[in-house]
Amino acid sequence: MMLHIGCHLSASKGYLHMGREALSIGANTFQFFTRNPRGGSAKALDEKDVAAYLDFAAANGIGTVLAHAPYTLNGCSADPAIRDFATRTMLDDLRRMEHTPGNLYNFHPGSHVGQGIDAGVEQIAAMLNAILWPEMRTTVLLETMAGKGSEVGGRFEELRAIIDRVELSNHMGVCLDTCHVHDAGYDIVGDLEGVLEAFDKVIGLNRLKAIHVNDSKNPVGARKDRHEKLGEGCIGLEALVRVVNHPALRELPFLLETPNELDGYAREIAVLKERYA
Ligand code: FE
Ligand code: FE
Ligand code: ZN
Repeated sequence: MMLHIGCHLSASKGYLHMGREALSIGANTFQFFTRNPRGGSAKALDEKDVAAYLDFAAANGIGTVLAHAPYTLNGCSADPAIRDFATRTMLDDLRRMEHTPGNLYNFHPGSHVGQGIDAGVEQIAAMLNAILWPEMRTTVLLETMAGKGSEVGGRFEELRAIIDRVELSNHMGVCLDTCHVHDAGYDIVGDLEGVLEAFDKVIGLNRLKAIHVNDSKNPVGARKDRHEKLGEGCIGLEALVRVVNHPALRELPFLLETPNELDGYAREIAVLKERYA
């Protein structure tokens, strides 16, 4: 079994460029923002670039990749215009992703901004019910969050509650971010087994489709969400090596979102490959 490992890359030069860049740093997957992370309009899809990328990916063993929605989208804002913008943007992203079928689309569930978790959960599910369609070939992932401010998704129960309300939930999964779950209070350093048991009981490990591998600048339960380089934060390299090697996780795609340039990512990828047993 080969480690499925990559990092966040800039999408500004297109798909083929990302594929080449991934290979150049020893990766066989990658993550990218579907558009400017602050929102705004997407570049027109370059069909020739997509076709060239699909050939390149098949020839070079690049597997499932992860598209990340702009993190400013908020499907559970108290402002209906902001919810509507999130809905329209995500639908546009999902339609574009049909050009690269079989991949993953990850998003931050949102912030309920004082409406309460229950209202947030209802609004996020309503958005998903408005945009998913039966024949879609992308799996939509809810990211586990650090629970800072009024973020929805800091508890596994909240993600489960969203999935339970989505009619086409066969298209739904979860992306576990190691920094976020740690900051949310799940002790992946001292009790990875217990955290995964809780995930399985509440959500089901069958829903887990990708892992964001990040160290954290803050201690467990800090609810901060500040990523750190592997081994330089409060999680530490050994705990992250256990995540990558865990029997329930080891075949998933692992994406680094650490504060690095390409050379730093290449080093972290090499370390995790080296430690993949
Ligand atoms: Fe994220
Ligand atoms: Fe993340
Ligand atoms: Zn984060």
